[in-house]
Amino acid sequence: MPDYEKLRKNLEARGFDVTYFDTAAEAVDYLDRKLDGKAVGHGGSITLRDMGLIERLQRHATVRSHWLGDSFADAAASSVYLTSVNGLAETGELINIDGTGNRVASTIFGHEEVYFLVGSNKIAPDYDAALWRARNVASPKNAQRLGKKTPCAVRGDKCYDCKSPERICRALAVLWEKPTGIGRAEVVLIDEPLGY
Ligand code: SF4
Repeated sequence: MPDYEKLRKNLEARGFDVTYFDTAAEAVDYLDRKLDGKAVGHGGSITLRDMGLIERLQRHATVRSHWLGDSFADAAASSVYLTSVNGLAETGELINIDGTGNRVASTIFGHEEVYFLVGSNKIAPDYDAALWRARNVASPKNAQRLGKKTPCAVRGDKCYDCKSPERICRALAVLWEKPTGIGRAEVVLIDEPLGY
């Protein structure tokens, strides 16, 4: 089990707000209340999809979602942004790998509030382990999900640092601290496995 107390302390020392929930359902209730009436964009995220949060928010917030036909630019212009991470170190670093770049860009600049929704499976003991997981666990699973013609998608075992035209790993963002280009950043820890 992750050391949530250590993680909380390290994230707070790096400028992130931290909330913790035992279940995804509790986290959805919390965010549903908190984001009432706000303009919300999001990045591609299996965590977010599985939580069903977007459907809940659509009832009473202004949701800008590429899942609903909106552009990435629409999501980027929203005051609130939701995403997960590909790896979170107990030492406090947040790691994301992206292909288009919309998701990592929005974690760094331009939003009043960014929420990182993180299931227990994303947490690793330190930076090297979190980066390893992002590259060798999260990215191959995402390549498989997207039906990419990459060695990781065929074999599903690790990253091959491929030169494929369909490579999905084109940008790596490590947040050492909350960037000054966003207003608030909150890491929502959920003690259930979620997403990749
Ligand atoms: S770099 Fe290529 S092989 Fe490695 S995870 Fe990304 S798409 Fe797969």
